[in-house]
Amino acid sequence: MEFTQSFPRRETKQIMVGDVPVGGGAPITVQSMTITKTADHEATLQQIYGLAAAGCDIVRCTCNESEAAEGLARIVPRSPVPIVADIHHQYRRALEALEAGVHCLRLNPGNIRNPEHIKLVAREAKDRNVPIRIGVNGGSLHPDLYAKYGGKVTPEAMVESALDEIRYFDDVGFDLIKISVKASSVPLMIEAYRQLAEVTDHPLHLGVTEAGPPPIGTLKATAGMATLLAEGIGDTIRYSLTADPIEEAKAGRQLLETLGLRERKNIDLISCPSCGRAEVDVVGIANEAMDAFGEREIPLQVAVMGCVVNGPGEARDADLGIAAGNKRGHLFVKGQNVMVVPEDEMVDTLVEWAEFIQEHGADAALERAVNTKDAARRAAQEDRDRNLNDRGDDANDSESVIAEIRRGH
Ligand code: SF4
Repeated sequence: MEFTQSFPRRETKQIMVGDVPVGGGAPITVQSMTITKTADHEATLQQIYGLAAAGCDIVRCTCNESEAAEGLARIVPRSPVPIVADIHHQYRRALEALEAGVHCLRLNPGNIRNPEHIKLVAREAKDRNVPIRIGVNGGSLHPDLYAKYGGKVTPEAMVESALDEIRYFDDVGFDLIKISVKASSVPLMIEAYRQLAEVTDHPLHLGVTEAGPPPIGTLKATAGMATLLAEGIGDTIRYSLTADPIEEAKAGRQLLETLGLRERKNIDLISCPSCGRAEVDVVGIANEAMDAFGEREIPLQVAVMGCVVNGPGEARDADLGIAAGNKRGHLFVKGQNVMVVPEDEMVDTLVEWAEFIQEHGADAALERAVNTKDAARRAAQEDRDRNLNDRGDDANDSESVIAEIRRGH
């Protein structure tokens, strides 16, 4: 039976970003950011639609010039998801973005420093019921804080930056707030978020900034965000990858599904790491299966196993799986052998049965195999015995490797 751990979530206030709730027990949301010029509203909208299809709940667009604000005015009414305007330096852009109807602003307290400007933006946002993310960034900390903490970016300095901004918002009675304290250093951002979570109940937006290109960037961001999510910290997340933003949306979705924090949308492919017993190129078949399932909305666990000796047993909790035998594949449903297929039909068969199970359920799939399952079980046993006899206990065939090494001397 599948073990699912639910991580107790930190209690936070809830804000609405358009029609998407953030915090207060709402599902954790996935965000990404467009990389088109916001002024080019058609190209930006196209990217937003792609992001939404990839599982992104909220999209941010830069508002770095008046033309970008005009672009936002055209984008917002046609966007399938709420839009956040990213403001770095000029408070006027924030006012224009609000005028354009955006659903949220992101302000960087290290860049917009005049308290009157900050309060003016907060007042306008309050009038329109639009939330603001206080987006502290380790790379662009307020110079005063940088100096105060000895010229170093510390978790304390980042938290203080966020709290200072909250005080300006308090002055004008604005509290539709979410906060991020991102850094490119994973230990630094983890500690900053932990400290922030101790002192505020506003929802938190998680991220490792400038994480880099995949796969190392994905790994860094995952290390930071997964650690915090497992501690119950985090209400919305963004992967900051040097890659097509679609990759960010997919990674975000995948992370939440993997932690059991969002419902699964696509297949969960489990595959063995391969070893000396493998009867096929497990890496190739697993990748082929990933491609074949693609974006199909089949939220089943599907296993690809390199041999029939351990495969079906180890993947018995999967909804469906295939284990390689002697030039053939043994298909199993809920751990029961149902059919034998030629090696080159393994992936197609897997997809076809997954679609069947998705539509009719696993019991119907076992029923469907009523005439083939006995032969399938016998064939699996034959291949299992053959594999064990051929390779014995030493799956990695070390004696022949050693003989090979000796021949080389
Ligand atoms: S024993 Fe079989 S299922 Fe396990 S890793 Fe090796 S090939 Fe894969």
